[in-house]
Amino acid sequence: MRMELCELTIKQVQDGLRSKKFSIAELVSDCLKAIDKNKELNAYLEVYGEDALNEAKRLDGATSDFNELPPLWGIPFAVKDNIFIEGKRVSAASKILENYEASYDATAIARMKKTGAIFLGRTNMDEFAMGSSTENSAFKPTKNPHDPSCVPGGSSGGSAAAVAANMCISALGSDTGGSIRQPASFCGVVGLKPTYGMVSRSGLIAMASSLDQIGPLTKTAEDAKIVFDVIKGKDPLDSTTVESNPKSQIPNLKFKIGLPKEYFGQGLDSDVEKIVRDAIKKLQDLGHEIKEISLPISEYALAAYYIIMPAEVSANLARFDGIRYGLVTSDKRQETSLYDIYAKTRAEGFGDEVKRRIMLGTYTLSAGYYDAYYLKAQKVRRLIKEDFEKAFKEVDIIAGPTSPTPAFKFGERTDDPLKMYLADIYTVAVNLAGLPGLSMNAGWVYPEHGRGVEQEGKKLPVGIQFIAPWFQEDRVFNIAAQLEKIL
Ligand code: GLN
Repeated sequence: MRMELCELTIKQVQDGLRSKKFSIAELVSDCLKAIDKNKELNAYLEVYGEDALNEAKRLDGATSDFNELPPLWGIPFAVKDNIFIEGKRVSAASKILENYEASYDATAIARMKKTGAIFLGRTNMDEFAMGSSTENSAFKPTKNPHDPSCVPGGSSGGSAAAVAANMCISALGSDTGGSIRQPASFCGVVGLKPTYGMVSRSGLIAMASSLDQIGPLTKTAEDAKIVFDVIKGKDPLDSTTVESNPKSQIPNLKFKIGLPKEYFGQGLDSDVEKIVRDAIKKLQDLGHEIKEISLPISEYALAAYYIIMPAEVSANLARFDGIRYGLVTSDKRQETSLYDIYAKTRAEGFGDEVKRRIMLGTYTLSAGYYDAYYLKAQKVRRLIKEDFEKAFKEVDIIAGPTSPTPAFKFGERTDDPLKMYLADIYTVAVNLAGLPGLSMNAGWVYPEHGRGVEQEGKKLPVGIQFIAPWFQEDRVFNIAAQLEKIL
């Protein structure tokens, strides 16, 4: 069977273009066909069909030296709807920004444009990146390409679904507590959350600024590295960025892999556990050393995250007041006061989950509660970081499940926010500590045929997460590429 061009990886596109097997215009129109065919998955909020084709033709005409193509030359990307592309709408899947237009390129986008990337459209997400299923989008829910009755994960669910269903070659997402890795796990693709400060947040609509990072969703670990190498590095527009990988060290051939016992405890689905342990066993068979470790404070990570994140959310979202950006209340009566404009705009424009978090955040930051909640959570955050520092004295890398379950059904968790928050139990600590983490597919479950029994029929992917020390992204790329070869 002929492989469609949209099924290729970045690396394969690079090779194909170099040997002139196809044109960029052919590649882009193949992706656009896949988008059209998979319309009912709702991965995209907007597709830039004509613009993308025109850009493809322009690049085809501008290609002279086929041996020296810039890294993302002609690569079609999907972009999460909270990342600025100049002149395009960017709504964070919120009604309050529905018609807002980006006035500049995010630094990551600018760097990608410089090396020839093409943008196919903006992808659906949980409103303001708050959620684990993309059900919080103000516009529509995205469906999981492997089973449309299940969620794709979130909040970068549109980007993960777009990669999984070959509606792009690769995508950008953002990760504040797991929003790249968890949907990557639910959709069976690779997702990287870089070390805090490796990728500029300029042009990313802020959710929680001390946790947010932009990162790639791709088909392979090699592709994730290609994108990461383009978007990473110091940026004068984001003072938290640092120079590219100051001191990358890959251990000689064999890794010491730590398995935190807290990541294999109560609440972990037994099929997920089996798949992740089998993958780790395969790495052991390759000669890597496996060691059980402990991250004792991780038990408090979710609690600390759900205090620190909403606090930052409440501050960051204060700017959406009906005056400076986007939507303004439909109440246009003369006697409407300025305060009423703020209050009514926010009441009409924000969804329930966003409101919930703003209220939580303003509460924990208010006088009297600040010390009891916010300050305490910050102290826990420090202890979580120290947990990892200790662990990385013993091991080179940490491995475990990305999410405790495979993709769940629509509506299953929407009535119970706490249940929804549990989907991130293994991912949030990585953001609190600022570490790099990568999720990749480790195997499949077959829910319709008795869990874990391999048979024809619908199957759902299960992700494994690798966590490396600060700035050691190369380790996660390296181990993930090794695992890809033997799975
Ligand atoms: N699902 C988590 C939350 O709801 C993570 C979100 C994210 O990483 N943007 O906060």
